[in-house]
Amino acid sequence: MRIDVVSIFPEYLAPLELSLIGKARREGLLDIQVHDLRSFTTDRHHTVDDSPFGGGAGMVMKPEPWAAALDAVVAQGGSASMPVPHLIVPGPGGIPFTQAMAHDLAAEPWLAFACGRYEGIDERVYEHAAARMPVTVVSLGDYVLNGGEVAVLAMVEAIGRLLPGVVGNAESLVEESHEDGLLEYPVYTRPATWDDAGTARAVPNVLLSGDHAAIAAWRQQQRVARTAARRPDLLAASALTTGLDGLGLRLAVPADAPELLVLQRACWVPEGRANDAWGIPPLVETEEDVRAGLNAYQTWVGHVEGRLVISGRARVSPEDPTVWELGRLMVAPDLAGRGLGRELIAFLEAQAPATARLAWMNTGERSARNQRIYAKLGYRRQQAPPRYPGTIELTKRLR
Ligand code: SAM
Repeated sequence: MRIDVVSIFPEYLAPLELSLIGKARREGLLDIQVHDLRSFTTDRHHTVDDSPFGGGAGMVMKPEPWAAALDAVVAQGGSASMPVPHLIVPGPGGIPFTQAMAHDLAAEPWLAFACGRYEGIDERVYEHAAARMPVTVVSLGDYVLNGGEVAVLAMVEAIGRLLPGVVGNAESLVEESHEDGLLEYPVYTRPATWDDAGTARAVPNVLLSGDHAAIAAWRQQQRVARTAARRPDLLAASALTTGLDGLGLRLAVPADAPELLVLQRACWVPEGRANDAWGIPPLVETEEDVRAGLNAYQTWVGHVEGRLVISGRARVSPEDPTVWELGRLMVAPDLAGRGLGRELIAFLEAQAPATARLAWMNTGERSARNQRIYAKLGYRRQQAPPRYPGTIELTKRLR
């Protein structure tokens, strides 16, 4: 991945030479170029700021050096694989940076970051940039920093560690806080009992038991308890207490078709974007098509306070009665990341008739997030050519 950072304090980005990100740079996994905004000024004093029109405190970053700097970055692209970068402008008024966004950005070949200072960057720079490349304003959190550099350090680290090969043990990435909407469980290492100046502090017994099922259950219970205590906002009340059960899953009826159509549009737009495939059925089907789908598949739907928030469907393969085909797995975007999708898949697998030996599903070739989740659930990619171009097919042995 290539990353360009424009700042008036290039030295601020020096920590990106350290630790795993520094190692990834040296190994060629990550190409980070830091540019000094002042080198794009034309006056003797290398001026990058001026007083705001309309009055008020503080200074505003001038448009001309920014336009020149961003144009210089863009000029380094132009190839088919790297036409233009996705420009991220850190700002307290931006979209909150999350682990899900880190995953999305880690899938892009080229990112550029524009570090604001003072009261921010002249608004016309955003227009200039948006005419040349995708632009997203991203906030690190609801507080105000002096400049974008700290935000860039945080974002580059969060994104960079998701790139293949950057973190040695990729397994360690999947169980972390925020990966599925919950915080991580507490962790311990030797000694099993630590003499803390006269106070004996012991590791929970279950971790020493060697009983992997009991350890997994304890860890899950700790994750839920910790998330409820520290970040109740991460838990949809119904999804926390009852998971899928709280959503009253039932078989869909024709009257569900309009809401199903809305949910599938909402759920497949990110797929359309990830795969650059805007003609895929979930995005182009009509309400009538959705109704027809209810006859061809068994479709389940779940609701929160009357709103359709989850659905999935399955059928015995018309070609092979031992194959149970899952599809149209959808969780309302605002409830994503809470583990409901996984529960839905387990539920659909459990509906398989006794004749079914294999669960089958497909997803976009570039739907990295889906592929990660399905791999964690035991689905393996099939080598045979897929039924639909641009997709991959995955299977899992059921019994
Ligand atoms: N006047 C701006 C406002 O109220 O939105 C704040 C400007 S701040 C002092 C200067 C720069 O710090 C911003 O342009 C941005 O680059 C960075 N910054 C400040 N807070 C940030 C945050 N929460 N997330 C990301 N970047 C931030």
